[in-house]
Amino acid sequence: MTTDAEIRAVISPGRNRSGDEDDDGGNHVAVAKKKILFSPAITTREDPVAALGKLRHEFGEHGGVNMSIEASATFTVMEPETMPRLFAGELGPDRDFFIYSRHFNPTVLNLSRKMAALEGTEAAYCTASGMSAISSVLLQLVGCGGHVVAPHTLYGGTHALLSHFLPRACGITTSFVDLTDTAAVREAIVEGRTKVLYFETVSNPTLTVADVPELCMLAHEKGVVVVADNTFAPMVLSPARLGADVVIHSISKYISGGADIIAGAVCGPASLVNSMMDAHQGTLMLLGPTMNAKIAFELSERIPHLGLRMKEHCQRALEFAKRMKKLGLKVIYPGLEDHPQHGLMKSIANPEYGFGGILCLDMETEKLANRLMYHLQNGTQFGLMAVSLGYYETLLSCSGSSTSSEMSNEEKARAGISPGLLRMSVGYTGTLDQRWAQFEKALGRLHDESFRFHKN
Ligand SMILES: *Cc1c(COP(=O)(O)O)cnc(C)c1O
Repeated sequence: MTTDAEIRAVISPGRNRSGDEDDDGGNHVAVAKKKILFSPAITTREDPVAALGKLRHEFGEHGGVNMSIEASATFTVMEPETMPRLFAGELGPDRDFFIYSRHFNPTVLNLSRKMAALEGTEAAYCTASGMSAISSVLLQLVGCGGHVVAPHTLYGGTHALLSHFLPRACGITTSFVDLTDTAAVREAIVEGRTKVLYFETVSNPTLTVADVPELCMLAHEKGVVVVADNTFAPMVLSPARLGADVVIHSISKYISGGADIIAGAVCGPASLVNSMMDAHQGTLMLLGPTMNAKIAFELSERIPHLGLRMKEHCQRALEFAKRMKKLGLKVIYPGLEDHPQHGLMKSIANPEYGFGGILCLDMETEKLANRLMYHLQNGTQFGLMAVSLGYYETLLSCSGSSTSSEMSNEEKARAGISPGLLRMSVGYTGTLDQRWAQFEKALGRLHDESFRFHKN
């Protein structure tokens, strides 16, 4: 008797072209080595580009060098008896069986395998946005009435989700702590009730670097799952390789790099990804923050040069940070020796990528920050006044009155967000010296302006 998969292979010989069922062993959801949820910190320190280089290359259906886009909402079976087996979970994406694209889609799964390789997790799945990745993971891991521990300094949307939405919607509460104070983190964990320790590897916008190995160790001692948002530092930091259980990305930022797509990813154990896709209990399956296959294809084409892009973002950010500091500006950048976590970052970062592509300038007042941004965009074309990050052009925003405006003044003060904090996502277009000249010129105009202001 011919199996359904054999029939389909005959009809569509291209789909199994790659043939090299290597150590991936046909388990297509799982990618990297098996990793238990509460494994002790410090796992393998593999370079993310090397990990991506080992991934099976997916060919197109007709032998194209690029994979095909499976732009289908629904999938056929060759035998009616196959359908109940799909729904019973006997046959699944690991054997190239798909049901419906709110569940696993082959193209989204291919991108997800790249995300798993990038972050060194067993599996991953991509979502419609970074926020949907965050909310789906938290709702999956923390039941009604559960407890989360998180730092004061978080992306504004995440902060609002934890402090306002989740308590109202399902009684999930969060204790906000100073992440650099490990005793405070330990104390905030309520054994049995705390389900998740959530943090950003490099915090938005204050650029505090999380001591990932230390935090994972203390969370795991108390049976708490560690969820790390690595949006600010793909390639640069690999939180799962340092012990984190789950890694979140807003793909909308560096991984996309084009500021044209909103997308996210959850990278973690296969058991978690599968539970999130469960037809009765899964947040991805039932809340449906689904990524479109065409978007997944576009994003897949950008991952091969993510490493190159990150190196250039980081190199320019470091050079600008050094030069700005030399001018006497108040610069916050983890690559500078005066940054409180400079040594930590050096010890946990993947070698040769740098210290991240974001730097902050503390201009003291919102007015000065705004005037500098005005000159940088409209006067000298150094960058664009816009929120977000990871774009090829430099993006400038005043965090307190934009991406962190969900926070109260008190919360901002506690998180160390000064009203004049200017966040700069350093781009890589133009030459470095050309951009630096534009920066100096804008700064000159700001000085002229304040000189005139003081004289009058
Ligand atoms: C932008 C961002 C998010 C939200 O991602 P979206 O793709 O905009 O939904 C979450 N975390 C961090 C750190 C971010 O910068």
